[in-house]
Amino acid sequence: MTLKRGAVSALKKIYGKNRFKSELEDLTCYAFDAVNGRYLPDAVVFPECPDEIAQTLALASEMGFPVVPRGSGTGTTGGSVAVEGGVVLVTTQMNRILTIDTDNFIAEVEPGVITGDFHHAVEKLGLFYPPDPSSAGVSTLGGNVAECAGGPRAVKYGVTRDYVLGVEAVTPLGEIIRTGVKTAKGVVGYDLTRLLVGSEGTLAVITRIWLRLLPLPSSSATMKVSFGSMEEAAAAVTRIIASGILPRCVEYMDEASLECAMTIADLGLPKGCRSVLLIEVDGTQSEVERSVEGVEDLVVAAGAIKVERAESEAEAKRLWMVRKKVSPALYRFGPDKVNEDIVVPRSAIPEMVKKIESLKREYGLPMVSFGHAGDGNIHFNVMIDKKDAAQKLRAEAVVEELFTHTLALGGTLSGEHGVGITKRPYIGKEIGEAELSLMRGIKKVFDPKGILNPSKIF
Ligand SMILES: Cc1cc2nc3c(=O)[nH]c(=O)nc-3n(C[C@H](O)[C@H](O)[C@H](O)COP(=O)(O)OP(=O)(O)OC[C@H]3O[C@@H](n4cnc5c(N)ncnc54)[C@H](O)[C@@H]3O)c2cc1C
Repeated sequence: MTLKRGAVSALKKIYGKNRFKSELEDLTCYAFDAVNGRYLPDAVVFPECPDEIAQTLALASEMGFPVVPRGSGTGTTGGSVAVEGGVVLVTTQMNRILTIDTDNFIAEVEPGVITGDFHHAVEKLGLFYPPDPSSAGVSTLGGNVAECAGGPRAVKYGVTRDYVLGVEAVTPLGEIIRTGVKTAKGVVGYDLTRLLVGSEGTLAVITRIWLRLLPLPSSSATMKVSFGSMEEAAAAVTRIIASGILPRCVEYMDEASLECAMTIADLGLPKGCRSVLLIEVDGTQSEVERSVEGVEDLVVAAGAIKVERAESEAEAKRLWMVRKKVSPALYRFGPDKVNEDIVVPRSAIPEMVKKIESLKREYGLPMVSFGHAGDGNIHFNVMIDKKDAAQKLRAEAVVEELFTHTLALGGTLSGEHGVGITKRPYIGKEIGEAELSLMRGIKKVFDPKGILNPSKIF
């Protein structure tokens, strides 16, 4: 228990009985993220306004207990779990979409808004918010900003960072700050907004977000392309990107992912299919038709065995539903998931696919890969039983080899899931000591007492 009695009564005073929880059954619900657990916090609180968060953080800095910000807990690297105990601060009750400014294409939201709800709200007004993590039905915009979430549409439209104009946040000392602008551009002072985006809840708690919007594309088409091998699918991705056609999504599933996908719905795959690309293009009707034809020619030349276009919006939605449920379906291969989201230059995807195939042969563990092939972001999973020490060691060796190869190809260890606790041992492989020391210095400036989300990243 890291909470002194004085801290408990002060927190109860801020949150009242209903929004302060410390019973075991409540704490247990917040001891996990999507992959990591079980780290029991001492208490869970549900703020409704920035002022309550400011009081909580000022108290934590004064009395020395950890505070862990949390949205929906869909993170996969342990960012939202209370590794050192303390208070988990859940933002899901701060969930108002405050404005959608259709003249200036800017929205103002609280951090607990569910990403998918925000998509629907802006789309009803003919606007478009591109970042679409596959967890959008559950994840919060605050969690998306803290992780700099990506998603299938990042190929064409970029990631969360590209849409955050500014934020309001509370520093670990309890000060409420505003960063960035509410205009289309702005360059006054250091870019604190970019610093906070992707900071994994270690520098400040985000309490309000100003997001840039786009006009909703008038037309789109979704294609399912089947290949006889993962190598051919990877080569097709490289050809598409090099051709100058820019689809909004190019997702791939390998043979093991397809096995999981088929447990969710029958994809009607042709005989001999060992990999599928889901490709989506958007724009005006004529642009879409041109892109579909171009993509068709390229994938056929790359060896596709079947090219199908979704005939209705419902069919396209069904394909995406299956793709987005692949990650949770992987547990059929083992009770525990070692989950990585490396990125390589797009031209290096075929080389990375070869490496993954050789790791499968060498280590004999179930390995599944799928992901955002269009931007080189490969979700690579080794399914094991962590209680089996030998399997755990082999999985660690696989990850070590995967990371070394990724960096040798000019890639990065995480495209969108962050470092959290799971990639912490490896951060020094990618980032130099001088840069790490600057990052630690920044952390110290924001959080001199080290109370905000300790044990994460470094
Ligand atoms: C099935 C599945 C599919 C996924 N697909 C994708 C994908 O396509 N793309 C992608 O990028 N990610 C994906 N993810 C990962 C995850 O959904 C994202 O990282 C998401 O942004 C996390 O949002 P959340 O609300 O669940 O945050 P949480 O998991 O609760 O928290 C994540 C991190 O953000 C911090 N945080 C949360 N709220 C705040 C706040 N208000 N202020 C400061 N820090 C805060 C936490 O401390 C933690 O470090 C997927 C996860 C799952 C389970």
